[in-house]
Amino acid sequence: MPRNLYAEEHEDFRASVREFVERSLKPRVEEMISLKSIPRDIWLEAGKQGFLGMDIPEEFGGAGAGDYRFNAVLAEEWGHFNAATAACFGIHADVCPPYIVDLGTEEQKQRWLPGIASGEKIIAIGMTEPSGGSDLAALKTTAVKVDDGSGDWIINGSKTFITNGYQCDLVIVAARTDPSKGPKGITLFMVERGMDGFVNGRKLDKVGQDESDTAELFFENVRVPDTNRLGPEGGGFIAMMQRLPQERVGAAVSNIAHAFQIFRETVVYAKERKAFGQSIGMFQHNKFKLAEMVTKLEVAQAYVDDCVAAHAKHQLSPIDAAKAKWWTAQVQSEVLDECVQLHGGYGFMNEYRAARAWRDARVTKIWAGSNEIMKELIGRELGF
Ligand SMILES: Cc1cc2nc3c(=O)[nH]c(=O)nc-3n(C[C@H](O)[C@H](O)[C@H](O)COP(=O)(O)OP(=O)(O)OC[C@H]3O[C@@H](n4cnc5c(N)ncnc54)[C@H](O)[C@@H]3O)c2cc1C
Repeated sequence: MPRNLYAEEHEDFRASVREFVERSLKPRVEEMISLKSIPRDIWLEAGKQGFLGMDIPEEFGGAGAGDYRFNAVLAEEWGHFNAATAACFGIHADVCPPYIVDLGTEEQKQRWLPGIASGEKIIAIGMTEPSGGSDLAALKTTAVKVDDGSGDWIINGSKTFITNGYQCDLVIVAARTDPSKGPKGITLFMVERGMDGFVNGRKLDKVGQDESDTAELFFENVRVPDTNRLGPEGGGFIAMMQRLPQERVGAAVSNIAHAFQIFRETVVYAKERKAFGQSIGMFQHNKFKLAEMVTKLEVAQAYVDDCVAAHAKHQLSPIDAAKAKWWTAQVQSEVLDECVQLHGGYGFMNEYRAARAWRDARVTKIWAGSNEIMKELIGRELGF
């Protein structure tokens, strides 16, 4: 079905992203897998190409695009390449910048945004803790104001499963500043590499997404000046809730793009691979499976495109973002499982993209709010 989300300027932009993927990313897949991260020079190259600062105003080194469809083009093209790179670039360029652009002071914007746009300062966001991620309001990391008139804070605690956690130079940390106020007692802080007591833990050993850096973060008596507080005291929880819809629609875009790309590659495989004297795709069972897969993908794509268009006009509701996020994760998982099946034994071999994509996709039903949490939000909206 023809899509009508994008205009010529988005397609021109897409061509430049594709060229970057072909030239700078594809030849280095094995290196990224062995490093479990995107090499620094690729971050810098992405920054130079203008791919890391779509939401960052021009005066701070970004593109100041003011049109979410450009972020969506990036999410699609990273998703076509692989899910892990989509996650690392997505957290850095799509999820984190709005926190600083919307909540930061002029001085904070000048201090951090140019480095984020150029790729010199890799950023992460630390919400999830070892004790839990779904119940964000129950987080245990604390920030206590020092009683010496300096206004400084002392942060103690830890975060886990943090994308870009090992490499990050900056991390947005959600910490409890007032234990008596529940969600209203949570505040955001920018913690910077080199601050005493801040330790980037090991890169975690994951089931999939080998190319991405996912790590624990430790904070032991980290002294942070008040000028690193992002937004008002007690405003952290609402700030996260307000920005999660963008994270979720971005995830939905990349889920569908990722599954669609592997589906296309599977169609080629199903035409080439022969059994019983014919292409495996010609068996009615497989033909019907492929027909079901493309239908699921296109129907989901249409909903996601509507969400992107709504978000570009600042009209996307958190509930619609939640629907897009869980549904695309589900479709992605079903489609990729069938792609593996159609590849037979090769579908279980890591050298095949279908195998890696299937492993990589498993987490999309868990992160950025699990499918159960998305349904909880949708159910509440229905009055339950
Ligand atoms: C690769 C990876 C990258 C990640 N990147 C980041 C990141 O950059 N920053 C960050 O802050 N976090 C990140 N996360 C964390 C992720 O967002 C959490 O794992 C997720 O929110 C779930 O939290 P949890 O793992 O603590 O599971 P739990 O909250 O312990 O949940 C366990 C299970 O219980 C279910 N459950 C919980 N509450 C309910 C309920 N009310 N109703 C029904 N079921 C429920 C959940 O759906 C889940 O199935 C990442 C995770 C992974 C695996």
